[in-house]
Amino acid sequence: MQMTRRTMLGASSAALLASKTSEAQTGVTPGRSATIDVHAHFLPEIYSDALASAGLKLLDGGMPVPKWSEDLALATMDQVGISGALLSVSSPFLSFLNSEDEARRSRAINIEASKIRDRHPNRFGGLAILPLSDLTAAMEELKFALDTLELDGVAIPTNIGGEYLGHERFRPLLAELNARRVTTFVHPTSPCCFEAFNLGLPAPMLEFPFETTRAVTDLVLSGRIAEFSDIEFILPHAGGTLPYLAQRIAAIGQLPVVGPKQLAAPETLKALASMNYDLALSATPAQYGALRQLVPVTNILYGSDFPFTPAPAVAAADMAIDQLGLNDEEARQIRSGNASRLFPGFAGRCCGAHAH
Ligand SMILES: [Zn+2]
Repeated sequence: MQMTRRTMLGASSAALLASKTSEAQTGVTPGRSATIDVHAHFLPEIYSDALASAGLKLLDGGMPVPKWSEDLALATMDQVGISGALLSVSSPFLSFLNSEDEARRSRAINIEASKIRDRHPNRFGGLAILPLSDLTAAMEELKFALDTLELDGVAIPTNIGGEYLGHERFRPLLAELNARRVTTFVHPTSPCCFEAFNLGLPAPMLEFPFETTRAVTDLVLSGRIAEFSDIEFILPHAGGTLPYLAQRIAAIGQLPVVGPKQLAAPETLKALASMNYDLALSATPAQYGALRQLVPVTNILYGSDFPFTPAPAVAAADMAIDQLGLNDEEARQIRSGNASRLFPGFAGRCCGAHAH
């Protein structure tokens, strides 16, 4: 797609907001270009309590629950030079609760996100969690999170109880996200039956990149990306294995053996190229090179994956971006310019004119 979709609208809205935000109120470090982290997690007490109550000390096959606080997040951001972060809940989201509890906790977490944003409007934005086991509740929460709390987008998992986003069940949700032009962060979670084949290894090592690949392949081949082209999707970790497998997915996706999901190869590649990809823990030359074969630089975003990635690793990953050999304009686009297109309101508060 290159610079299509909301490029013009986003840029003009951000510029307008930016003009209303003085530099003294922004999170920009003087002398350094702005950096907007679109892949930053938070674990407010209301969420960590839910994990603890469910007995979840290790997540997704072995990852310890990291500590998170506003102060810890701000200290890491200051240390690394991250101007602002869009907070989201990570895997396993609230998938371990029954529908009623999931809806109630989702509401409380979204309210908490808005409070954190209100305490630090120039540093934090929020991506809403939705209680996706009950689509009616999810649609209600979407409305509340966007209209009442004015959060900046949504974060949804790659699968919900083993169902992927191209499933008919999620069509009304995607239609609403499309109508509202919601920036939608699709975060990996463990696949169904993961314990049967995890090799004793935690899911983030192999299954998270595969999950992103699987979920996006489903979205693309089900035709949803083409149908709902006003949703700006963000895919973590440079798209998992998508850049490496794109040609294979396109080649096999066009064969009759695929059945109703059969799609012409150019359409598959076009859909993949229309999505946005963050560089969280994926800024090696090989990964970046493969990603750039798939998408223009306008579709690449900065991500840290804090606090699941601890502060020293966030700092190292940030330096890795500086070592990719980007020119100044490419670095500016990746660190903040492209995010300001997707999150014009937050970019205006966070980075003011520096985002452009
Ligand atoms: Zn993450």
